[in-house]
Amino acid sequence: MILRKRIEIEGVVQGVGFRPFVYNMAEHWGVSGFVLNDSRGVVVEVEGQLEGLAGFLFAIRSNTPPLASISRFDISDLLPTGTTGFEIRQSDVSVAAVAQVAPDSYVCDDCLAELFNPEDRRYGYPFINCTNCGPRYSIITGIPYDRPKTTMQDFVMCPTCQAEYDDPTTRRFHAQPNACPECGPQLTLSDAAGQPVAADDPVAAAIDLLRRGKILAIKGLGGYHLAVDAENEEAVLELRRRKQRDEKPFALMSYSAEQVVEYARTEAEELPLLTAPERPIVLLAKKDDSSIAPSVAPRNRLYGVMLPGTPLHYLLLKDSFRALVMTSGNVSDEPIAFEDNEATERLETIADYFLTHNRRIHMRIDDSIARFMTGKSVMLRRSRGYVPRAIFLQEQLPVVLATGAELKSTVCLTQGDRAFFSQHIGDLKNADVFDSFKLTIAHLQEVLELTPEIVAHDMHPDFYSTRYAEQLNGIEKVAVQHHHAHLASCLAENGYDGEAIGIIFDGLGYGNDGRIWGGEFLVGDFAGFKRYGHLCNIPMPGGDAAVKEPLRMALSYLVRTYGDDLPQLPLLDRIAPNDLVLYRQMIAKDINSPMTSSCGRLFDGVAALIGLRDTVSYEGQAAMELEQIADTDEEGCYPFNLWRDDDGFNLGYPALITAIVDDLLAGEPASIISARFHNTMVEVVLSATRLIWSYTGLTTVALSGGVFQNRILTEATVYLLESDGFTVLTHSRVPPNDGGLALGQAVIAATQVAKKRGE
Ligand code: ZN
Ligand code: ZN
Ligand code: FE
Repeated sequence: MILRKRIEIEGVVQGVGFRPFVYNMAEHWGVSGFVLNDSRGVVVEVEGQLEGLAGFLFAIRSNTPPLASISRFDISDLLPTGTTGFEIRQSDVSVAAVAQVAPDSYVCDDCLAELFNPEDRRYGYPFINCTNCGPRYSIITGIPYDRPKTTMQDFVMCPTCQAEYDDPTTRRFHAQPNACPECGPQLTLSDAAGQPVAADDPVAAAIDLLRRGKILAIKGLGGYHLAVDAENEEAVLELRRRKQRDEKPFALMSYSAEQVVEYARTEAEELPLLTAPERPIVLLAKKDDSSIAPSVAPRNRLYGVMLPGTPLHYLLLKDSFRALVMTSGNVSDEPIAFEDNEATERLETIADYFLTHNRRIHMRIDDSIARFMTGKSVMLRRSRGYVPRAIFLQEQLPVVLATGAELKSTVCLTQGDRAFFSQHIGDLKNADVFDSFKLTIAHLQEVLELTPEIVAHDMHPDFYSTRYAEQLNGIEKVAVQHHHAHLASCLAENGYDGEAIGIIFDGLGYGNDGRIWGGEFLVGDFAGFKRYGHLCNIPMPGGDAAVKEPLRMALSYLVRTYGDDLPQLPLLDRIAPNDLVLYRQMIAKDINSPMTSSCGRLFDGVAALIGLRDTVSYEGQAAMELEQIADTDEEGCYPFNLWRDDDGFNLGYPALITAIVDDLLAGEPASIISARFHNTMVEVVLSATRLIWSYTGLTTVALSGGVFQNRILTEATVYLLESDGFTVLTHSRVPPNDGGLALGQAVIAATQVAKKRGE
């Protein structure tokens, strides 16, 4: 009996080789019909004998191409029409751009096999790709996604490549970046002055230079990396010196997971994250006796490790290095270099040589960073490999542009049930980064064909992202409180649209009262929030200076706890006598010392108090080191104060600081004190949550804010809250830090505008 079925498929199914795959399966199972892209995904109509149909349906449901993932798969019955043959139909003109633009991706297994097959015509060719893999977002200049709207328009396909491109049975059918050594991009090696270095094989020459300890700027998918041999301590130190980067860990890249386990411990669940097509940098525990140079990640128990994301990286690493340092090609706070002339200019003082190529990068995009905790992967920086893939929501939203925060800037566009985050942009205080911010918004709006009707921004009046939003014309503007946005971001990511308790442990954010918040116990939903309590306020002597110098925070806690009668701690000797007098006055009399309830500052202060770090060279450094030294076998806990005032309950430090000082004076090691401090913060969360439950009866708790990048704190908090009967929502696809803030802003703004218009 002949049957006909219609199959509607949603998910990541466009630009990932899905239609050729369906075509091949139809040929294989001898069924007729067609496949096409529509605005939601892929539609297939198929006709044939029951047996063939069953085989076909099973195959397309379960054997999907590597980059595809299916979120909806619906089958319905149709009357047979007697068709013969199977065709890939032209897409509907109405195809929404949102479904078309795919993220940049890795090298698929088939391409990898060809890359290292001496018989293949693309043997050793660093730009091999197919419909299942290769560059996408970074080379797209506009839509529709077609070769002329990518930077591959610079190259005309040779007849062989063109034949592959036109043939639906090949892996390169409509692979827009298709290329080969005859017709595609080429590598060049040049010295720091930009003079070409004569080499038959630029890859072999580059490997040789790296072996000799040279620093190479290497053009990747979304920008330049600076690379050195990770086992060469001298080279790594030299890179640090030239990059003006004292301590921030460098990312590593190895050929395969087998190489990674030689220097890093990988838990079973971390491997799929490491080998994922998105190729994020994954934070992994160091092995003690590895051959990796100590300066790769000084004072750190973790490495950031990624596997190769491009054919060029595979060629460089194959049998050559256990690992290469692959750090962003920039000087400290500048954005990553991605244009060739700009890269040579900005990196000439750092790199000895440039390994570059003539395929232009249209959009700069940094590496993504992920960490495994509470049984799932958590994005810490969602960028290359993920952007601009949609995050699916439970709600239906209008087109909202959310401009994010300032330090780890990302922006977000929403439409319907989808949220599209931009790549990581960086610290907007840097003028080049702010330019990149504006460029990214324009590009995202263009390739997604979205024109926002609402713009959501942070309440902070001085953020560049706020000022940008305010100067837009003809668009509804909504200012969103920072920690409310964190809460909403976590709720939206988890598809939860009710009221929940929000525990927001963060760096700094502008509060409703004009003060700096950051240790917040909230109750809220998308429509609004109420602040039930907070960590008690503490002066930050010198404002921003206290962020860079945790030592000042430590002193602030001491002065506020002990008054004039400070305990004799080594800390006091590390401050110049004049400064000590000055800071004490500032703290005692609230001079140039804004008050903050920030949890990040508490972690900083404790880190300095126990002698871990007096100053930081990047945000979150002291808190991260505090986490890393904690002895996780220690179960002790400190007392803390709880009192009420006008704005709810305060969770206070005098008892906590006194107990830490007593431990310090008693000679307890920092690892024990750190563990007890972590345990205390978990108890703080538990007490606050129970208290709010007693007022509200709410049993769902959302954890958000940058401090929840801390694995020890997050895992213990989730465990205790769940043991207590609470349902705990945490981040996974959206970063808990300010990189995930824009989603919350968008959802809140959409809800508030809808409410206003409805009234
Ligand atoms: Zn491929
Ligand atoms: Zn070719
Ligand atoms: Fe924040």
